[in-house]
Amino acid sequence: MKKPVIAIDGYSSTGKSSISKVIAAKLGLIHLDTGALYRGVTWFALQNCLNDSGTIDLEKLFSSFDQIELEFKNIDGELVLFLNHIDISKAIRTTEVSENVSFVAKQKEVRDFLLQSQRNLAEKGGIIMDGRDIGTVVLPNADYKFFLTASIDERTRRRYLELLSLGIEANEQQVKENLIERDRIDSEREIAPLKQAEDAIIIDNTTISKKETIDEILSHIRKI
Ligand code: C5P
Repeated sequence: MKKPVIAIDGYSSTGKSSISKVIAAKLGLIHLDTGALYRGVTWFALQNCLNDSGTIDLEKLFSSFDQIELEFKNIDGELVLFLNHIDISKAIRTTEVSENVSFVAKQKEVRDFLLQSQRNLAEKGGIIMDGRDIGTVVLPNADYKFFLTASIDERTRRRYLELLSLGIEANEQQVKENLIERDRIDSEREIAPLKQAEDAIIIDNTTISKKETIDEILSHIRKI
């Protein structure tokens, strides 16, 4: 039987990726963290496409797409993101990337650049993809769609702890401001804004654990 295609969208730091990873392992699916792709392009831009004032030169970025090769490699069961054969999995979590990623991700050229490879990966089924526009734009025909939300304070706490666990220095207030700002830019952008698909199931996980969120999602997915 064909394995399902599952779309998980929602606000920043609602646990989309870590939850998707567990569900993928339980159901034998591929997991694609699409936010990592946007972060990867942003990292490339910060390294290679700055103008004299130190901000990202979009034209330079758009004309450099053919130099960007993003690839996930399975290393000891973990999907690790490589940019041009260099492990960037930690670099893409830095504050610098978080502060620029929504600006990069709202560009039509960037979204078009990443769209087809996301769709190709889902063609054969058996995938769980998390992001902001998966249920609405990337995979509108997904078998299951979920939309995660949680209070800003809880999301701040989670992202702050995640950064500390990665050994990245962080300030809680700055983390909070970044989440609010990213959600604002992501929701207000013209192309593929962050929004719940009409047929998505909403889960507010402010007061429930990661395991309870996973169980809730699994309870909606028919046994396969
Ligand atoms: O999921 P994560 O928080 O790592 O995503 C980083 C950023 O990438 C988001 O704030 C958003 O600007 C962008 N993104 C997007 N579309 C997706 C996934 C992420 O625009 N499908």
